[in-house]
Amino acid sequence: MKHMSQETEIERAYRGATPGSAVLAKQAASLMPSGITHDSRHIAPYGLFMSHAEGAYKWDVDGKRYIDFFGGHGALLLGHNHPDVTAAVRDQLGRGTHFAGRSELEIRWARLITQMVPSGEQVRFHASGSEATLMAVRLARAFTGRPKLMRFQQHYHGWQDDMTVGYASHFDGTAPIGVPEAVASQTVVVDPYDSETVATKLVPGTDIAAVILEPFGAATGKVPLEAEFLHRLRELTERAGVLLIFDEVITGFRAAPGGVQEAAGVTPDLTALAKIVAGGLPGGAVTGRADIMAGLDFGAAARSGREKIYHPGTFNACPVSAAAGIAALEIIRDGTACTRAARLAETLRAGLNEVLREAGLSWVVYGQSSAFHIYMGEAPFEPRALGREGLHR
Ligand code: PLP
Repeated sequence: MKHMSQETEIERAYRGATPGSAVLAKQAASLMPSGITHDSRHIAPYGLFMSHAEGAYKWDVDGKRYIDFFGGHGALLLGHNHPDVTAAVRDQLGRGTHFAGRSELEIRWARLITQMVPSGEQVRFHASGSEATLMAVRLARAFTGRPKLMRFQQHYHGWQDDMTVGYASHFDGTAPIGVPEAVASQTVVVDPYDSETVATKLVPGTDIAAVILEPFGAATGKVPLEAEFLHRLRELTERAGVLLIFDEVITGFRAAPGGVQEAAGVTPDLTALAKIVAGGLPGGAVTGRADIMAGLDFGAAARSGREKIYHPGTFNACPVSAAAGIAALEIIRDGTACTRAARLAETLRAGLNEVLREAGLSWVVYGQSSAFHIYMGEAPFEPRALGREGLHR
């Protein structure tokens, strides 16, 4: 009962402080399913409506200022409206937003990625992270001629059909609504802490084309993985002729200028990128081994007699995103921004843990690099159990 009344009190205070958002939430409800545009914004009693942002802050429509720890779903390592990124975007807006043709920006952008990301020999641009992981898997299937994809429980790689099984639900391998069983059956979902099953499945002669993972662990390390696991996975995949795909959509240019692969010293075959790569604007990229990327190359396909992977996309390498991406990567490449963000997060984690200790709570704040998570369970702290219990209940 105490818990219930506390909740009501919090809700009452929230409603009282955010009347503008309440009005807009009512209008949105009749126009969009649940009134939202992203499932994570399904918040009770309603999510806030924002009016503007600057640096580390954002303001809601009632004029309240918030420290933004979410940072554009991880896209804004440099904060809101970094002057160099904003200037590059403004300049590009004056030159045109879409040429339906090539631009020099693509070369500068691709060059930075190949210089910074250890696995990056060639690049193909996309409009989002989901598209980048979609292409990485298609490249792997085309290269190996095998149908299956190995994924880890609760690792997020976007919302396309291949990536729905075993993320928030359907850990038994059945197909989520709207996804055919025939597609779901091509995905092998494994517990990353079950090293025996991982090793048994990654053997020569397997029908698995690729393993994809969030290299920090599910939800940017909420269920953490050690670098040792990445090394072991590299050995197993190499031996089995299975391609290793790092989904560095969040960790890319954050864990280090070259992502987790640079920090951990493990080079995957393919890497999916988005968010920071496009300076916080819409955009994504796949980078990796040139012989695998050749699946997209007209000349290589003709020479090998293999069918080329089809890949259009109206907003691939959109000039505005390219300009923002170049400006952001040029700042990030010397490592100072990653180090500063990681140091600030470390201070924050330590401070929050101190507050929890003083309050006598068994909760723990933890995380790698500039990420942080709050464990709100009973002692003992066992983040691995989150993988089994489910992060999204
Ligand atoms: N992969 C990871 C690790 C992500 O965190 C996300 C998005 O949060 C995606 C892929 C999908 O990216 P997008 O939302 O741009 O499609």
